[in-house]
Amino acid sequence: MRDHLLVVSDLRQIVGENNVISDADLMAPYCVDWRGRFRGSALAVVKPASTDEVAAIVKYAQAHGLSIVPQGGNTGLVGGSVPLGNGNELILSLARLNRIRSIDTATDSVVVEAGVSLAGLQAEAEAHERLFPLSLASEGTATIGGAIATNAGGTATLAYGNMRELVLGLEVVLHDGRIIHGLKQLRKDNSGYDIKQVFIGSEGTLGIVTAAALKLFPQPKSRLTAFCGLQSPEHALKFLELTKRSSGALLTTFELIPRLGLDLVLRHFPASRDPLFATHHWYVMLEFSSAAASLADMVAEQVIATAIELAIIEDGVFAKSLAQSDVFWALRENLPSAQTKEGASIKHDISVPLARIPGLIEAVNRDVLSVMPDIRPLPFGHLGDGNLHYNFQAAIGSDSRAFLARSEEIHAIVYRHVAEADGSFSAEHGIGQVKRHQLSHWKDEISLDVMRQLKALFDPDGRLNPGKVV
Ligand SMILES: Cc1cc2nc3c(=O)[nH]c(=O)nc-3n(C[C@H](O)[C@H](O)[C@H](O)COP(=O)(O)OP(=O)(O)OC[C@H]3O[C@@H](n4cnc5c(N)ncnc54)[C@H](O)[C@@H]3O)c2cc1C
Repeated sequence: MRDHLLVVSDLRQIVGENNVISDADLMAPYCVDWRGRFRGSALAVVKPASTDEVAAIVKYAQAHGLSIVPQGGNTGLVGGSVPLGNGNELILSLARLNRIRSIDTATDSVVVEAGVSLAGLQAEAEAHERLFPLSLASEGTATIGGAIATNAGGTATLAYGNMRELVLGLEVVLHDGRIIHGLKQLRKDNSGYDIKQVFIGSEGTLGIVTAAALKLFPQPKSRLTAFCGLQSPEHALKFLELTKRSSGALLTTFELIPRLGLDLVLRHFPASRDPLFATHHWYVMLEFSSAAASLADMVAEQVIATAIELAIIEDGVFAKSLAQSDVFWALRENLPSAQTKEGASIKHDISVPLARIPGLIEAVNRDVLSVMPDIRPLPFGHLGDGNLHYNFQAAIGSDSRAFLARSEEIHAIVYRHVAEADGSFSAEHGIGQVKRHQLSHWKDEISLDVMRQLKALFDPDGRLNPGKVV
């Protein structure tokens, strides 16, 4: 292998002196994942500013037997964006590919480079009176490339779909440096195999996304956020059915939160307040939006009134201003951080068919509590999509290490019930390093074989994000 110093100097020839980091301290933040569970090391962090520079780096890596770990905002939750530390990896940061190339308000589409943050694109769309709907708690840092590579979901999937549904076209650098120029902004294009789909959700293992053509939507003129208290997940499901039936496409968010979740946010974010007068076992935060002025408000008020009348929910409150809506959203979005502040937790990102959710929660809690009676179940999240972050918080004052040492036991219980319900062990976060060793339990042999063949086709030397997914 080429000498480390020569590699750094060669890369500087491609991207400029200041755009290669090789100092270990400066590389450290790029080498550890968001949750601090995976730490690796790399030969260098390279920061190209154009698709051609990405292609040149990939060709260089191929010529010198180096591997490439694509990295966007490094907010991924499965260890996919950090190197393994096997001595020959380059971190390819897409941060400098940060231009919005064009916005077309006639076709409601935008062409954007991979390193633009989700929040940056949302703001740009808003400046053109459009909506880019993908919304995650990490949107200030997470990038378009990362969201495509992980097929990210989030709080608006219910209405607008995952990232996959928002992609019209992709520009991708292949393992040998060739570039697929696929940025057509067409709503219909059945001209053969739809190659871009292969890269969406491939977690940087099949190609490097450098730009994307994405869908935009009309900006909502009315939007109403509500926070409701209810008795059980069964009631939440009935509430979802009622809401979908009565409001159709106006329903954009439907998030489930147990009392423990709200308690943790109230405890660790002292500025937050319980929006409801009484205490409830469960909560739903939901949002309606419409391109027609006042429609969302009208429909939402009717739906909530009917739900109270039918005793499906116990209480509900509307945000009367944008500021109050932000307060409700903060209760939901601060939940993952509140969990971290509270102490150790064991996490799962699962999905099951909607009708199975109440039974799943009952069975999983029962079985987990039977082996760890003081554990605190905290299933929350995107109920509208059948996706729960099925987490468990350690008992107050318990030993974190001893608690986490029992993770596998808890995973086994959760995943057994998820499998019985015909669900998925990775609803929106991907496989990365964390779930790679379990993939074979969840896919049939033929699907696994096709996945391996795709990997061999798009990355014959195994240099694109090695040790991730397959
Ligand atoms: C607080 C918090 C909340 C979150 N909420 C959600 C949520 O609601 N829904 C959800 O789906 N996820 C969520 N996530 C996970 C994460 O934010 C998303 O997966 C996000 O899309 C990752 O974007 P990123 O730019 O940070 O990607 P990174 O973390 O940098 O990379 C993620 C993966 O994509 C690959 N990759 C990155 N850029 C490219 C590229 N240009 N080309 C090819 N491969 C690339 C990496 O190699 C890696 O495998 C959350 C994370 C946090 C920290």
